[in-house]
Amino acid sequence: MAGQKKYNITLITGDGIGPEVTSAARKVLAASGVIIDWEVVEAGQQALEKHGTTLPDDTISLIKRNRIALKGPLTTPIGEGFRSVNVELRKSLDLYANVRPIRSSLGVSVHHSAIDLVIFRENTEDLYAGLENEIAPGVAQGLKIITECASTRIARFAFKWAQSHGRRVVHAVHKANIMKKSDGLFLNSVRKVAQDYPQLEYHEIIVDNCAMQLVMRPQQFDVLVLTNLYGDIISDLTAGLIGGLGIVPGANIGDKYAVFESVHGSAPDIAGKGIANPLATIGSAAMMLQHLGEEKTAARIRAAITLLLAEKQQLTPDLGGKASTHEMTDALIEKIKLLK
Ligand code: ATP
Repeated sequence: MAGQKKYNITLITGDGIGPEVTSAARKVLAASGVIIDWEVVEAGQQALEKHGTTLPDDTISLIKRNRIALKGPLTTPIGEGFRSVNVELRKSLDLYANVRPIRSSLGVSVHHSAIDLVIFRENTEDLYAGLENEIAPGVAQGLKIITECASTRIARFAFKWAQSHGRRVVHAVHKANIMKKSDGLFLNSVRKVAQDYPQLEYHEIIVDNCAMQLVMRPQQFDVLVLTNLYGDIISDLTAGLIGGLGIVPGANIGDKYAVFESVHGSAPDIAGKGIANPLATIGSAAMMLQHLGEEKTAARIRAAITLLLAEKQQLTPDLGGKASTHEMTDALIEKIKLLK
């Protein structure tokens, strides 16, 4: 279409089910009418086989050039010398905010309804700094690094987002009663930021209690701000509350770059079988469109996902259905076209 904006976006197809779910997302974006010039780059297992490294410099440079990437899950080979490629990517691009919207969908059978919360996980430090030693035979230590700078910026990001998206309540999640210095610093940093947002209700909750409250009464939560490890665990817990990893989208955002990816991993148990649920990656692609300012198209894709789940006709096995990845994607595309 003449005059329509074209986007250059880097694509990492990923390992395991990655190629299946990213190809579904590409198909959906093409059907939505947004014009994207994809630049496909390698990382993870594919890159290791070809270039001897899981994260080639070229991959990082190309994401930096385009500033935006859509990414499938990457596996980190087990064994000495392999640092998590996901962690490396987030650190190299300083993608400090991991954003995960958790929303219940009609049609997905779960214990609770009306869940609508957003998780903001600090993405660059904590126990994920990879600083571990065996200090004596039979004794290992892992360093939990928490800084005021990183804690403040994730808090600012979360509060700013909460305010601009009409959210009302922010919870800082911590274990400062035990880790007084590290979690204490995180908590103090978030508390200071909270003072700049008097219009938002602010609460603090200990992580173990938060886990129980989420299981019993998840509707009380709106926005959660967490350090890296608690954010990782609570994300999976909340994914379970709304129907599993197959439907939860995510974004890793920094001041310069953003990489959009689902919460789930490479799911090697179902890779290549054509039954992976593509909705988490498609939802991540919708978050990417929103980030690019294509809000109407993003909303249309989200609405189509809601309809598809509510109808329960074309669901993949993880949601209790019999549809293949391909069938679910085609059914979604039909809905997107209808909503035009
Ligand atoms: P990682 O360590 O990479 O996070 P993991 O093994 O902890 O990986 P996943 O790869 O996310 O976690 O898989 C956890 C379970 O969820 C597996 O049984 C997998 O098949 C299932 N799963 C994950 N993603 C999907 C999906 N998109 N569709 C269907 N099932 C999925």
